[in-house]
Amino acid sequence: MSHGPKLGGLASAVIHWRARRIDDPVARLRFLRRTLGDQSWFTMEPDGRSRRWLRERRRVVLWSAAVLLLAPAGQMGGRLAKLTEREPVLTVAPKPMERPVPPVWLAEQQAGFESWSNGLRVERRYEIANEPRSFQAYPLGKEAPGAGQAGKEPAGIVFHTTESHQADFDEDHVRRLQLIGEALLRYVQENRSYHYLVDRFGRVWRVVRESDAANHAGYSVWADDHRTFVNLNRSFLGISLEAQTQQEDGRSAATPAQVNALRLLTEMLRSKYTIPAINCVTHAQVSVNPSNLRIGYHTDWAAGFPFAEVGLPDNYSRPLAALWLFGFSYDAPLVNSTGAAYWRGLLLAEDQLRQNATAHGMPVAQWRSGLQSRYRAILKDLQKTNGASGPPGAAD
Ligand SMILES: [Zn+2]
Repeated sequence: MSHGPKLGGLASAVIHWRARRIDDPVARLRFLRRTLGDQSWFTMEPDGRSRRWLRERRRVVLWSAAVLLLAPAGQMGGRLAKLTEREPVLTVAPKPMERPVPPVWLAEQQAGFESWSNGLRVERRYEIANEPRSFQAYPLGKEAPGAGQAGKEPAGIVFHTTESHQADFDEDHVRRLQLIGEALLRYVQENRSYHYLVDRFGRVWRVVRESDAANHAGYSVWADDHRTFVNLNRSFLGISLEAQTQQEDGRSAATPAQVNALRLLTEMLRSKYTIPAINCVTHAQVSVNPSNLRIGYHTDWAAGFPFAEVGLPDNYSRPLAALWLFGFSYDAPLVNSTGAAYWRGLLLAEDQLRQNATAHGMPVAQWRSGLQSRYRAILKDLQKTNGASGPPGAAD
């Protein structure tokens, strides 16, 4: 049985009203937690969930109900049918500081490698072609079959780990590390898995050409401030680190050389294609399962991606697009495998979804179900367009 607090409708509405006036989303969450007496947010229960966190979720449902009760009755009925005209209410998403990317230019190009002005060296011996890149992106808030706008230039980057076999990273295992790395490159090439692979020595290998699609992201969703992307194999570049998620803390171990190389590679690609920082995200943030409408089908970099070291703002703070734009949910295994940073994106996305439901005078469940129908319609539309290439594949 739930023994959650019984907040009066007026009290919760006042808390909600005050929270809406705090611009910084993290400060806002802190305010909500403080006001509601929740100081132990991150205390994990044996099943991986925080009891406080679950209580908080119940409270959140209470606020939503209170806000709906306070909404003028006439607003409800008139707006129920207007899902197709919706505009998103973008109030909870943090706006990361966009630091300008310095221009990076090609210093030397040979058959086997490239050198770039920021010190990046790209190995080309495994470079291969695939289907040429072309994709549809939807104007944010107007995601519908037929509303897509064509794109050809990479719009973003998805970061992966290979989850492949690892040898100890020390001098005694150099030959073994090399052999494993070469076998992995052949596998990635054969499967057109990623555009780039960064091996454990920090060497950057281009595998699938940037002008082509790669099978890295599978079923996936992301959005920036203007566009929504569905199935990112064709719109985003895939970069994978040869690394494995650690059993003990769910983090992915990257060597210092890999992190350094990733910073240079990200800088080069962002400079070349004017990729906004907001579109540089991890596979766990974008991966979805269309059959049960849950996020986090792939969980690589669900925790511990070194955004700051790679020269990016902390994009774990972005609300997860699949959740607030298409009504996806999540389950316990995902929460178990993610860190506190990822939860922030989850909570912000839930908050945003509730705000949008409230703004349109709809119960959250009904709003969510409308969003899910919209996703299914888009997926069908994309399958028609990309029918020849079948369902989108995803590496780890
Ligand atoms: Zn992945």
